[in-house]
Amino acid sequence: MVEKLQKIWLDGQMLPWDEADVHILTHSLHYGVGVFEGIRAYKRADGKTYVFRLKEHIDRLFDGCKLTMMKCEFNREQLMAACTEVLRANKLDEGYIRPLVFVGDGAMGVYAPNNPIRTAIMAWKWGAYLGDEALKAGIRAKISSYARHHINVSLAKGKITGQYTNGVLAKREAKLAGYDEAVMLDTQGYVSEGTGENIFMVKNGVLMTPDFASSILGGITRDTVLTLAREEGIPVSECRITRDMLWLADEAFFTGTAAEVTPIREVDNRAIGEGKPGPITERLQRRFFDVVRGTDSSHPEWLTRV
Ligand code: PMP
Repeated sequence: MVEKLQKIWLDGQMLPWDEADVHILTHSLHYGVGVFEGIRAYKRADGKTYVFRLKEHIDRLFDGCKLTMMKCEFNREQLMAACTEVLRANKLDEGYIRPLVFVGDGAMGVYAPNNPIRTAIMAWKWGAYLGDEALKAGIRAKISSYARHHINVSLAKGKITGQYTNGVLAKREAKLAGYDEAVMLDTQGYVSEGTGENIFMVKNGVLMTPDFASSILGGITRDTVLTLAREEGIPVSECRITRDMLWLADEAFFTGTAAEVTPIREVDNRAIGEGKPGPITERLQRRFFDVVRGTDSSHPEWLTRV
């Protein structure tokens, strides 16, 4: 359960946690057009709190608004300021920030072009998404029976609320079958992503991940890991990956703001490599955590002081 904190920002006002309500006729609740973000703030080794890649997250939120043709009442600067304000109002020195732009109540029916576009920002404490042990030992994944939406069925580049029914169902299926996470294939059968993570694999020293034009979210952690890998001199390939390529990988891992860099030790009961996090995964994971919460200050442009 999310631990109740003090304040939630709703349409420009900082409200007490329990008063940030919406009406039951809220359009997004019925039809699923809303756009959200997931952002982390970390307390770094210098004892200060920084939001990681805030600008890129807010840019992606606005991309989602453009894709869904929702006009947010606030601009980027206002939302970035509100994100740090929410952390301060809740006395969070580490946490997860969730901006949400959604269609409010007014008309019902699918069209409803004049309903208000509302914006909320909340934050809560969130530890390792797939568990502390997952970060160390890796997780067991299952290829889902649910395919990722075709690129012309949904808007993969947007974090759009309604699209997550697909992920929720895949996650439930994987968990009920005794696995930790689902790997989703696209409608052509190529490896796409997790339910809330991008996926990477390593084969013969080459780091591979599905290319940006495939049915994946343009993950900000994905971009971070690709940047760090290039800096580390690790060969990188953004390419199509098949299920059997993944089964035969030397290493694999998920990336995401919530999941951070989580090793995958098994896919469909086949051990990945030696069934434990491999050397490239460990190297990139170490570098990632050093950048977000350690002493690696090589990317000051990714950090926003709270
Ligand atoms: N894919 C999906 C479907 C997601 O929900 C997420 C989480 N935002 C990701 C990938 C990873 O994106 P990011 O690294 O920006 O959090």
